[in-house]
Amino acid sequence: MIPGTDFWKLAHRVVAGGGLSREEALAILDLPDEELPGLIAAVYPVRKKYKGNTVGIQILTNARSGNCSQNCAYCAQSRDSKADIAKYRMVDYGKLLGDGLLAQEKKLSRHCIGLSGIRFSDAEIGEFAEYVRALKNQTGTPVCCSIGFLSPAQAEVLKKAGVNRINHNLNTSRNYYPRICNSHSYDERIANIKMLQGLGFEICCGGIIGMGESRADAADMLFEIREINPRSVPINFLIPIAGTGLENMDTSALNADYCLKVLCLARLLLPEKDIRATAGRELYLKGREKEMFMLADSIFASGYLTAGGQGIEEAIKLVEDAGFEYCVE
Ligand code: SF4
Repeated sequence: MIPGTDFWKLAHRVVAGGGLSREEALAILDLPDEELPGLIAAVYPVRKKYKGNTVGIQILTNARSGNCSQNCAYCAQSRDSKADIAKYRMVDYGKLLGDGLLAQEKKLSRHCIGLSGIRFSDAEIGEFAEYVRALKNQTGTPVCCSIGFLSPAQAEVLKKAGVNRINHNLNTSRNYYPRICNSHSYDERIANIKMLQGLGFEICCGGIIGMGESRADAADMLFEIREINPRSVPINFLIPIAGTGLENMDTSALNADYCLKVLCLARLLLPEKDIRATAGRELYLKGREKEMFMLADSIFASGYLTAGGQGIEEAIKLVEDAGFEYCVE
């Protein structure tokens, strides 16, 4: 930490509405591991003030898989990926409904639906909107979509169908983004988010840690996300997927202590938001879930877009065993 900085003073400042300097943010990510317990102890009351001791659990359905025109290096669905994944234009409605009914039965807080691709025809949006409308009628669970770049008219169609939140991640810092993807720009992502906010959508916006970015890049990404002011912030920890551009990424620095420091920083920069520990938490934070839940208040269960994950029952048990309450939104 910056010599003389007191974690508790930092946390009090955040609760009082103050921010962190970039220097302080970097110092958190560079903190010696032996100082991490003290940092978590000071950040936990911030989490508790805004989120109590509850953990929301979300389920994710991949409604359209593979064949994307973009080249995001981490993604198994990109045009350059050789990953062995299922590819389909639109999920069978029965599968979507099955996931929706599971979310309803288990009282999960949100059903997130991802579609590969960056732009969609009006006919495709119309078809998907009908799926969402039917799903909402049958389950009532809040729906969030991750659906590339929309036109304002397409976004309105989805809103009328019952989508109230859209996920659009920044993924990394502005500086590092061209190393991860150059088929679209960081600014296009931000413009899409601003357009959606202007239409009244809640935004879910996060990123991926461990793609070779520096710690300064990780901090910069969180500052960018703070500017966006989303409702929820998914923090993924890279699982290199065979066949993708990052399949050989060295993730040796991505250990539990570093992941927890990132979550500390996310909570301090975005204190009242849903901080969601997403892909990779099962791998990198295994055995450290109590500390994870002292910082994050939300997780996915039942897998990710193209990677498996923990089952719902197991996730609920994990939350309860760590001494937290699984909550219904
Ligand atoms: S992250 Fe999205 S836009 Fe990028 S390659 Fe994957 S599906 Fe396409």
